Amino acid sequence: MKLILFGPPGAGKGTQAKKISSHYSIPHLSTGNIFRYNIKNETELGKKVKSILDAGELVPDETVVDLVVDELQKDKYSNGYILDGFPRTIPQSVALDKYLDSQDTGIDLFLTLAVPQEELINRILSRGEGRSDDTPEKIKTRLEVYYNETEPVLNYYKKQEIVEKVDGMGSIKDIFSRLQTVLDRL
Ligand code: ADP
Repeated sequence: MKLILFGPPGAGKGTQAKKISSHYSIPHLSTGNIFRYNIKNETELGKKVKSILDAGELVPDETVVDLVVDELQKDKYSNGYILDGFPRTIPQSVALDKYLDSQDTGIDLFLTLAVPQEELINRILSRGEGRSDDTPEKIKTRLEVYYNETEPVLNYYKKQEIVEKVDGMGSIKDIFSRLQTVLDRL
């Protein structure tokens, strides 16, 4: 199964994507994790994107799309995957569709985690992962970017009738079991 896990920063995408990945035995592809890994290891890509992540802005579409398309060609993704943090703009969504079309395949389900804004800020501030973009000012930028550039992606996928909205409030376990209910219908 090919899945997209969508939602604002702090919605719990990373946590739930990891659980889905292990329960359904599909690899988890997180663009944010890939960027952070490259920054930590001071690769060329890391050097290119560091100031962008630090500012809470978006990495250019072309860079992200090239990265994801390269990654998806690896054997481990041949039986499905869960995308987390991608696509995050309309051009990224169009590019992903174009790539999947060329492979005669498509996304099975677009799961969106619904969490109120006040809760998002609290969660990010209390998760204590030490991320350089987890400060109140950067969170404000990330949420603005989300509402302006990323939320339209939801409407784009609604046209494909693969969107399922899941309540992202409650315990990690409760949220996962809501996701499972939807996924087990596939
Ligand atoms: P969160 O959802 O909490 O903001 P992520 O780990 O998904 O965290 O993303 C962290 C940062 O990585 C983003 O603020 C952005 O700078 C960059 N990034 C991740 N995915 C993308 C993407 N698809 N397009 C552009 N930038 C991205």
